[in-house]
Amino acid sequence: MNESIPCPFCGSEDYYIAVTDNPFSYDTYSTAHCSKCHATGPFVAESYLEDEPKPTRDYMEAVAKEKWQTRPIEDALNKRIADLVSSNMVMAKGVLDLKARIAELEAEIDIRKDQLREAKNILIDKKLHIDALYEEGYKLQQRIAELEAEIDHLTAHDATERQDDKWIPVSERLPETDGQYIGYTNTGLVGTHWLVDGHFVVTYSCERNWLTTPTSWILESASGGDVYVTHWMPLPESPNDTQTDSVVYGKESD
Ligand SMILES: [Zn+2]
Repeated sequence: MNESIPCPFCGSEDYYIAVTDNPFSYDTYSTAHCSKCHATGPFVAESYLEDEPKPTRDYMEAVAKEKWQTRPIEDALNKRIADLVSSNMVMAKGVLDLKARIAELEAEIDIRKDQLREAKNILIDKKLHIDALYEEGYKLQQRIAELEAEIDHLTAHDATERQDDKWIPVSERLPETDGQYIGYTNTGLVGTHWLVDGHFVVTYSCERNWLTTPTSWILESASGGDVYVTHWMPLPESPNDTQTDSVVYGKESD
């Protein structure tokens, strides 16, 4: 019985060595055997010449024992396993590192997404603001155009009404609205006359005093009269209150 590394088949650590001489030649053999399952180790054969000493039994046992204790395939496989385990650990660490890196990148992506969302919201707000400004600007342009048109109309109207305070022939055109105007008659008299329903009414009494408002009998007498307005012009602007007061009182005192 010898102590040894375990039998590769049954795991027993007990083995024995058999040494045999060939009775027909100058050869001797030795082999290790498992004591439990009788598995056989590598075969050892030694030859010797007739005049040489035969290898000793101790030598043959030592060689067989050494071969039994040597497990090159098993050692290579164990080494291979150890290498694989080692590289597996390296890869496992690499996987862990990659997972950590992925987690970092995912966190960064989340941050970027938030930033992107925020930027989008800002852009939307700005676009809405710009749209509102455009709309406001458009409305203001429209209002300006309206006011310009109104100014043009008023300017044109004022120009045609006043015509530099020159007499306007009735044959050419009449005032656009009824009211009081300065009139020049075919008899060469100047006074204020009323335009009623688009017709000038010559407003004077029998005493040839000009009146400031048309009355029914004057309208009747004027309709068939010989005196009629040939030219007209708008009344000048009214004087302000102060002027009116002083002028009126001055005339009354006379
Ligand atoms: Zn065995």
